[in-house]
Amino acid sequence: MVEKADLILYNARIFTVDSARPWAEAVACAEGRIVAVGSNEEVLNLAGRATQRIDAGGRLVLPGLTDAHVHFLQYAIRRQEVSLFGVRNFEEVRRRVRQAVEKAAPGQWVQGWGWDENLWDRPPAAGQLDDIAPHTPVVLARMDMHTWWVNSAAMQQAGITRETPDPPESRLERDADGNPTGLLREWNAIRLVEPHLPKPSSATLLGWLKEAIAEAHRLGLTGIHDQRVQREGRQTFRLFQALRRQGELKLRVHMNIAAEHLAEAAALGLQPGFGDDRLWIGHLKTFADGTMGSRTARMIEPFEGEPDNYGLAVTPANALWELAVQAKRAGFSLSVHAIGDLAVREVVDVLSELPSTEQGTASAERQAGEAGEQGRDKIPPAPPPPRPPAAFPHRIEHVQVIHPDDLPRLSQYGIVASVQPVHLLTDWPTADKVWGRRSQYAYAFRSLLEHGTRLALGSDAPVAPLNPMLGIYAAVTRQDERGQPANGWYPEERLTVAEAVHGYTLGPAYLAGKQEVQGTIMPGKWADMVVLSRNLFEIPPEEIAEAAVEVTVFDGQVVYQAEM
Ligand SMILES: [Zn+2]
Repeated sequence: MVEKADLILYNARIFTVDSARPWAEAVACAEGRIVAVGSNEEVLNLAGRATQRIDAGGRLVLPGLTDAHVHFLQYAIRRQEVSLFGVRNFEEVRRRVRQAVEKAAPGQWVQGWGWDENLWDRPPAAGQLDDIAPHTPVVLARMDMHTWWVNSAAMQQAGITRETPDPPESRLERDADGNPTGLLREWNAIRLVEPHLPKPSSATLLGWLKEAIAEAHRLGLTGIHDQRVQREGRQTFRLFQALRRQGELKLRVHMNIAAEHLAEAAALGLQPGFGDDRLWIGHLKTFADGTMGSRTARMIEPFEGEPDNYGLAVTPANALWELAVQAKRAGFSLSVHAIGDLAVREVVDVLSELPSTEQGTASAERQAGEAGEQGRDKIPPAPPPPRPPAAFPHRIEHVQVIHPDDLPRLSQYGIVASVQPVHLLTDWPTADKVWGRRSQYAYAFRSLLEHGTRLALGSDAPVAPLNPMLGIYAAVTRQDERGQPANGWYPEERLTVAEAVHGYTLGPAYLAGKQEVQGTIMPGKWADMVVLSRNLFEIPPEEIAEAAVEVTVFDGQVVYQAEM
């Protein structure tokens, strides 16, 4: 039984995300858990001499946010590089690269990423880098990572000349005379250069991860669902475990494992949920199709203006079925990347035919709601440890376009839509172009919700910015950062602020089987919270993206505090 609170946040506008009691003034934490939620008077009663008190000054407090789709190690690495994300001015690209080249030691490579030639008035080529980096090798990855733009110094180091043939399933762009222009298309071409890049040591990567975690705190994130990338092995998991041992893993990490490792996981008897309150095994991740931007998303009808292009089945339906059956046998639920409407349909087809698993969610949430009614005045005893999760709900990553006939089917089979509204900021014109009228059902957040689908929101960082305020802004306004289109893109699909916040809190907690300890501000839950500079519920929606985090509390400790 706890005598006094370690930390009290008071004089706040607390949005608890607990439907039984959505708003409160103050919250107390002890030993990493929330122990009381209520009025200032009620909660301040629990203050002792050693209690840290934070006057929130009437600001909005939310549960700590969880990004349900992030490639965190990639993010940690990319943020060390030159960011070209969203840069519309070509001269600005050159200016940023030149700055990095000037700082680089002799022989060092300059790396950058995130560019999108659709934003520019000219195509990228080595020639535009050679005058600013005549000797320093420069490598710039496109935002989708499928194309690299390199300068002549990099090609020279990699031994790429006009005699170099195109590697299989990939291409070196060439000028009229057959000379490589510095654009490497797809992995086998990229691999001509990639082995020449310096490989950061584990110690370096751990340092970068710590910096990335600090950045996550600055953005209000206290949890992530880490999505594996293809071709990535054990590195991320080992580094997270090293951080955990060092006591530096100040994030709740739901660690998905790659489908390629199912056999090993099954042989070991490894089960989802295994781990502790910082790091646990999550879903089994696989890919049904490609992407919208590269026109490889798998479609029921062909891409606009490309009558023969129905996209690409990365995992065909029969292989997906095999995987799902084996995963189920091993106790794993699936996390399937599906962007096109046919990919989404096929994933639902497969998952719907699996023998059903008991989800038990409604009752768990009801219990959680009841727990909120007690413990306003005195600190309750520590709650029993959460039940080990049965199976997690299955999840589809992205669901970027869905056929209206399939809208009711996700909730019917308990499948969660893990979506990334922040993609809207850059992608809505492309969606209009490649999907035409089908875009009416692209990023169809409200339609999904109204059909009873649970949503978990994320960023897909480093493919998009990690900042959850941008995600909430995009979901609520359906406009890009320049306010386009004026009335919002298919505005009937907007979410409310409360729904978007739910998608960053209880949504991911439910998906990870952690709804009894995470996702709301209620007694018994992990003490993860954020104080925001602006009240998202009261400001004009176009200002949401400017909201900043004032304080982030993780496990009952202040891990970030801005100048207040
Ligand atoms: Zn991703």
